[in-house]
Amino acid sequence: MKNITEFREQAHKMVDWIADYFVQIRQYPVKPKIEPNQIVSELPAHPPLSGCSMDEIFTDFKNIVLPGITHWQHPNFHGYFPSNNSFPSILAEFLTAAIGTQCMKWETSPAGTELEIVVMNWLREMIGLPESFQGVINDSASTSTLCAILAAREKYSYFEINDKGFNSFNNFKIYCSSEAHSSVEKAVKIAGIGSYNLTKIPVDENFAMNPAYLRKCIENDKKSGKLPICVIAALGTTGSTAVDPLYEIANICADYNLWLHVDAAFAGSALILPEFKDLLKGIKLAQSFVFNPHKWLFTNFDCSAFFVQDKDTLIKTFELIPEYLKTKTDVKINDYSNWGPGLGRRFRALKLWFVIRSFGVSELQAMIRNHIAMAKTLEQKIRVAQGFEILAPVNFNLICFRYKPKSLIEQSKINTWNEKLLSVLNASGKVFLSHTKLNGNYVLRMVLAQTNIEQSDVDMAWDLIQAKVLELEQENLLSA
Ligand SMILES: *Cc1c(COP(=O)(O)O)cnc(C)c1O
Repeated sequence: MKNITEFREQAHKMVDWIADYFVQIRQYPVKPKIEPNQIVSELPAHPPLSGCSMDEIFTDFKNIVLPGITHWQHPNFHGYFPSNNSFPSILAEFLTAAIGTQCMKWETSPAGTELEIVVMNWLREMIGLPESFQGVINDSASTSTLCAILAAREKYSYFEINDKGFNSFNNFKIYCSSEAHSSVEKAVKIAGIGSYNLTKIPVDENFAMNPAYLRKCIENDKKSGKLPICVIAALGTTGSTAVDPLYEIANICADYNLWLHVDAAFAGSALILPEFKDLLKGIKLAQSFVFNPHKWLFTNFDCSAFFVQDKDTLIKTFELIPEYLKTKTDVKINDYSNWGPGLGRRFRALKLWFVIRSFGVSELQAMIRNHIAMAKTLEQKIRVAQGFEILAPVNFNLICFRYKPKSLIEQSKINTWNEKLLSVLNASGKVFLSHTKLNGNYVLRMVLAQTNIEQSDVDMAWDLIQAKVLELEQENLLSA
């Protein structure tokens, strides 16, 4: 398709389809019932030599692709953490795709860089980070955390590892909690520090890092000739949205002159609410902070907001300007191609700009507050329901729960029972939840964070959970 008239026609048709998709989204099974390789087998193994009509392609999209899609925007998608979009964000993605600009440097698309500077300053103010932090948009929190660890590595090796490799600095130590996201360990591996040199600090009964333990580990490591360089604190762990004690950890990092990176990938969005501002106590002592507007701030994946206090160290870690990329503006305005591993950069600032302007801060606050309120209400219902247990504090809008059948005492049997419950729930197509293990207990994770979730969706899900529990209990009785 090269014809502009046809493009216009097809584009209108697809926009109508998209609008209908959101009208009918509750009718789709949240998670598709398909077997691995099913879609592969429905598609030709070889690329077509000649093109076909957009109508044919679109028909196959609806018949082959769509039935294999997990509907992350379904109001009853409660698994993992969400990857929310919203209408303004989708519109911005249309425009981003259409203008197809490359935002690696100011010169390659000035508005790309300048809009990124402005929206990152807006976000900084919205979540209450000090003005000494400067922001850049990355693809993922994993990349942001990797950038933080690489910058710490370079800072404490005086940029020697970048130049000579690991000659003299081979005794680095990094710390996170045992509940930290796997991206921390991945970054430590990629950075060449080695997962062996990542210490996972035990957590307390609320799954938050034990700071006394952290201090003890740092002391012991120093005594045995190791060089602690970095601590990653979680503001909302992936398992249960536990919040590490930032203030205590920040002070330990200050005492030992360590790089503190705060991973708030999901829960960072809640910081736009004044009632959560206390969670940032101590943040001035942190070097870097990441949260993902693509999780809970209604902005299409990908959009990860990474903030650093010492941008010079970050830039020095990545900077490399070949002759063909030298420009006169390099010193006047941020050159984001030197803030991370990639050179080419998508125009991600546009969708954030659309989202923040379209909703306004107060509506964004209202949406997030509503999610948290619905989660607290459901938490209370689960707490008083016979046989149900809440297994972690509901700090935001993630509920970790399980059902304890009357006849079962052994942990492994209760675990298997809840695994079954989850698979029955997800097979219904009406809801999608995920799971984790906390203290060895298999728990169901239910997040209430969808852009278009309503109380009736939550009520339906809770009714369904209770009904499925009853069914499984009856099956148990019959087979006993
Ligand atoms: C989701 C999550 C990540 C990873 O985010 P990506 O953007 O997918 O890399 C990291 N840390 C925490 C706490 C998370 O919840």
